[in-house]
Amino acid sequence: MLNLTDMQVIRELAKRHHFTFSKGLGQNFLTDPEVCPAIAEYGIPFPECGVLEIGTGFGVLTQELALKSECVAAVELDRRLAPVLKETLREFPNIKIVWQDIMKVSLPEFLKEQFGERKVAVCANLPYYITSPVLMHLLESGVRFESITVMVQQEAADRLCARLGSRAAGAVTAAVQLRGHAEQLFAVPRDSFYPSPKVDSAVIRILPYDAPPCSQEEMLSVLKLVKAGFAQRRKTAENALASGLGIPKEAVATALSECGHSRSVRFEQLTLEQVLELAGVLPV
Ligand code: SAM
Repeated sequence: MLNLTDMQVIRELAKRHHFTFSKGLGQNFLTDPEVCPAIAEYGIPFPECGVLEIGTGFGVLTQELALKSECVAAVELDRRLAPVLKETLREFPNIKIVWQDIMKVSLPEFLKEQFGERKVAVCANLPYYITSPVLMHLLESGVRFESITVMVQQEAADRLCARLGSRAAGAVTAAVQLRGHAEQLFAVPRDSFYPSPKVDSAVIRILPYDAPPCSQEEMLSVLKLVKAGFAQRRKTAENALASGLGIPKEAVATALSECGHSRSVRFEQLTLEQVLELAGVLPV
């Protein structure tokens, strides 16, 4: 197996394949030899569990995933990586690369096609420019992943694991908390990547609840409310929800008051339970 955490190997591969790193695609590849085995260890609950990877880069994490899981499907957008991966992943018949934008993949059909009846976990060093959209895409898909173990920027990790009702929370925090429990596993300093990004990172894991607080369909309408509430977080919840959802201010004020909130409450102050209660009296 090629050692893809060795800087000499990375530079030689890049040179020979005329590969230049794209900032726009978030191409910061992992070079710390301990990180990828740890992501695979935390992220893959049993060898029969299929793994969906998002963004292969040169395949440093893909290799580790393929050592632990019988079946890995990796979605990568940048086709310039094809000749590199042909070389770096050649000894792994259990890896399938799919050249696609993950945001355009219809997950239920895709997973059925790639994994059949297998349970599936997600492991990735996410491209940072689309961290929240990718996580929303996974959580809104209706698929129950065994776990979602991803590297994100430290600030995103703090937001994802924040408590709803605290300043650090955002719409994606709510999406996570409606489906599972998120925890920060370990920090990864910026010099663990090549090229090195300007900020530090952390690996987080989301484990699904056995009994989520609402159905998938209910979650989608709760998320409409949440997205509207957080889109204008400096406004009062009344103003943010009325303009974001296109409903009269008086109807929002009545719903807020029914739930025991003052007219000056801001959406970011509401806890998960309060958001669910509000969604129950303000159907969208
Ligand atoms: N897994 C590798 C590693 O850890 O070194 C690469 C991680 S790098 C942070 C993110 C990868 O995601 C890049 O290979 C990039 O080309 C790919 N990528 C960017 N946008 C994508 C998208 N919309 N869909 C799929 N892959 C994408």
